Amino acid sequence: MTDAPYRRPPYAASRSNSRGRCFPEEPPCYRSEFQRDRDRIIHCGAFRRLEYKTQVFVNHEGDMFRTRLTHSIEVAQISRSIARALQINEDLTESIALAHDLGHPPFGHAGQEALNLCMRAYDGFEHNLQSLRIVSELEKKYAGFDGLNLTFETREGILKHCSKRWAAQLGEVGQRFLSNQQPSLEAQLANLADEIAYNNHDVDDGLRAGLIDIEELLEIELFRKQYEAFRRLFPDITGRRVIHETIRRMINEQVVDLIENSRQQIAAATVVDIDSVRNLNHPLICFTDAMQAANLELKQFLRHRLYQHYRVRRMSAKARRIIQALFSAFIEDPGLLPDETQLQQQACHSETDKVRVIADYIAGMTDRYAISEYQRLFDPMQLT
Ligand code: MG
Repeated sequence: MTDAPYRRPPYAASRSNSRGRCFPEEPPCYRSEFQRDRDRIIHCGAFRRLEYKTQVFVNHEGDMFRTRLTHSIEVAQISRSIARALQINEDLTESIALAHDLGHPPFGHAGQEALNLCMRAYDGFEHNLQSLRIVSELEKKYAGFDGLNLTFETREGILKHCSKRWAAQLGEVGQRFLSNQQPSLEAQLANLADEIAYNNHDVDDGLRAGLIDIEELLEIELFRKQYEAFRRLFPDITGRRVIHETIRRMINEQVVDLIENSRQQIAAATVVDIDSVRNLNHPLICFTDAMQAANLELKQFLRHRLYQHYRVRRMSAKARRIIQALFSAFIEDPGLLPDETQLQQQACHSETDKVRVIADYIAGMTDRYAISEYQRLFDPMQLT
């Protein structure tokens, strides 16, 4: 069956130019191969756990903040809209968007840093690689293989960054980091849609939490421009509507910039097929220089005023302590691990692989599970 509502250009990913799956399977009946990837991602356990994982705010801090699940859905929405405008593969970009954060450990960036530190003698921990590890081996649901057996194109998109040392161990999917090539346009798109989504929702969540305010955001060009445009149209409206109206305009401005600039870049590069996209030494899905600079200004603002806010730092410090304490406890006495995890450890041949099982176990936890696991292990009043 055809998998597009429109005729796609030859440089878009499609069934005919796909490098396929590691384990050959019968094609799906009424879906495209990339729809099947997306459906497998939605039905996997790691995807469900995204509901209780967060990026900046810890899950129990409030029901109105984004979770990694709602963030992933926002990234998929932005990716699909742009893919349709550029006539590239919506299904592929959606499946990459939905899978891109599967490997994040609990407690967002603080959790990632802490786990990476714990794993420094064992090749480190990187959430991007972990997302790939989940879809390639950790999900165990199918009779014929470990992992989800996704297409090469979805796996290529999930692996956003990778060190050369790791890339060398990953085979075909790591190759582009060694030869300085690009992933598909759909992967390039999901990557920037992620950036659009988190910058804008961190502004929204930061305002909602009272950690930043409109006055300081008015120093930022992207925000000020849309805030003032809205104010001119609706001078009497106040409260959260103003914030939402400003942020939706900011997202739209970034999306339109990305569509129009990428369209020009694609035309200028005269790419003829998907491999000529991969063989370039620069991405074709990109913002204009002006938007790139405006984005950077917003990112730097968020880094200093939101991510370094003392209330965020307190939560991050707690998160680090929890991850470090869990890791040390399991290293010291693997008998504290649940039976299933102990069995996985016993099947390992090297010390590094045994420690990786602990990292996988911790990385798979949700924020609230990590907190209760900590209480079960360290609070003498807590019954296990
Ligand atoms: Mg993300």
